[in-house]
Amino acid sequence: MDYDVIIIGAGPGGIYSAYELKKTKPSLKVAVFEAGQELSKRHCPIDGDKIKTCIGCKSCSIMSGFGGAGAFSDGKYNITNDFGGTLYEHVGRAKAIELMEYVDRINIENGGKGCKLYSTAGTALKKTCMQNKLKLLEASVRHLGTDINYIVLDKLYAFLKDSVDFYFNTTITSLEVIDGGYRVNHDQGSASCINCIISVGRSGSKWMESVCENLSIPAKSNRVDIGVRVELPAVIFSHLTDELYESKIVYRTEKFEDNVRTFCMNPHGIVVNENTNGIITVNGHSYEAKDKQTENTNFALLVAKHFSEPFKDSNGYGESIARLSNMLGGGVIVQRFGDLVRGRRSNAKRIAEGMVQPTLSATPGDLSLVLPKRILDGIMEMIHALDKIAPGTANDDTLLYGVEVKFYNMEVEVDENLETQYKGLYIIGDGSGVTHSLSHASASGVFVARRIAEGV
Ligand SMILES: Cc1cc2nc3c(=O)[nH]c(=O)nc-3n(C[C@H](O)[C@H](O)[C@H](O)COP(=O)(O)OP(=O)(O)OC[C@H]3O[C@@H](n4cnc5c(N)ncnc54)[C@H](O)[C@@H]3O)c2cc1C
Repeated sequence: MDYDVIIIGAGPGGIYSAYELKKTKPSLKVAVFEAGQELSKRHCPIDGDKIKTCIGCKSCSIMSGFGGAGAFSDGKYNITNDFGGTLYEHVGRAKAIELMEYVDRINIENGGKGCKLYSTAGTALKKTCMQNKLKLLEASVRHLGTDINYIVLDKLYAFLKDSVDFYFNTTITSLEVIDGGYRVNHDQGSASCINCIISVGRSGSKWMESVCENLSIPAKSNRVDIGVRVELPAVIFSHLTDELYESKIVYRTEKFEDNVRTFCMNPHGIVVNENTNGIITVNGHSYEAKDKQTENTNFALLVAKHFSEPFKDSNGYGESIARLSNMLGGGVIVQRFGDLVRGRRSNAKRIAEGMVQPTLSATPGDLSLVLPKRILDGIMEMIHALDKIAPGTANDDTLLYGVEVKFYNMEVEVDENLETQYKGLYIIGDGSGVTHSLSHASASGVFVARRIAEGV
């Protein structure tokens, strides 16, 4: 065998697997295969000047490369079992928290020292939310910020690069079960190993599905979250963001009894494009450094949709809605809340005259032509509910960018060791459908590395 362990994907799941393998059993021969570039070479060409929208690079620097989808993220490490994945269903609640806290310590040791840990424990905001039919979910969150997150990744790479073989720009095309292990194949050749950790994230979802099909690994359809990204003056949400940084709030709509939730809150942040398999959706992040901060706060409002029979393709449904917005807007659409309420499209003049300066160049349009009525009604209801705890949320000038879609991978059948029915074949991180966040994905990597090092 060429390696004791091959890791496919250098996102947080893959990185923390490699880190923990090297910490606990340095003698193991480990390789990481990554479709994207090394960290220092990752650059999205969108500069807001010459290149304003996605040009569909061969490997998307936002989603792929050392650091995975998390490299230019806001670096919010949420320590909780309430959201971000269902790792606890496999490893137990206490173990999941312990692993996330361990990851937090590594982040602190590698550049994250000084980044604040926010917590919902004991906050009076919980009561205020309850009084207004909103539920605040429990969590502690370490906010690294995009800049410190980069430094942490850089340090982890420096720790790993001399003892782990990294193969960048190398997409694994197929995986074979061989006598005593596995062979991974790519365009330039192949490599064999005793243990294989697959950590391909959301960008590897299609490939992950093909592996499950070829090796008959059971997988079931997951949900898709559809909604918009809200952008408003930071001061409107400052009492929430100063205390909690990110608040995960859930609202149950009166009309349809659907749950609408806030997601990925970025105080003083920017709204960005996200490219998933050629479809342009919206996302957001923010910097820890004051000079890179804006006067706006952004967050997503999402509604989860599940499909089972006869239609199972939740992601396909989300993709179709995102494609529709791309068809109408040539990318992401932006609309003032006041225009949406009045049933008219936004135009560049009304947006320019508004109180909120958009941080993303998007096409002014009409989101009601894109989002299904049930989802849009739920979002509008929630904006009015949030207006009660953060007056000004429902102002006419509040901007809504659409669409934001959170795609989830198929949930792959893995046991309590995150191992498939094949001994030594582990599936972790967002690619497994078990995790949907930095902290859960990283924790799953640490967990599997320890199992391998222990020789389970
Ligand atoms: C803009 C943005 C902001 C975000 N902000 C936050 C946040 O603040 N907090 C939070 O908790 N989460 C955030 N997320 C989500 C978070 O980044 C992911 O949950 C996390 O990165 C998942 O880690 P992972 O290792 O499972 O997968 P990924 O990070 O997706 O990494 C998978 C890697 O595998 C590689 N790969 C895929 N297929 C192959 C193949 N066939 N061969 C070789 N390599 C392959 C990919 O190139 C990629 O680098 C954000 C995501 C984005 C896009």
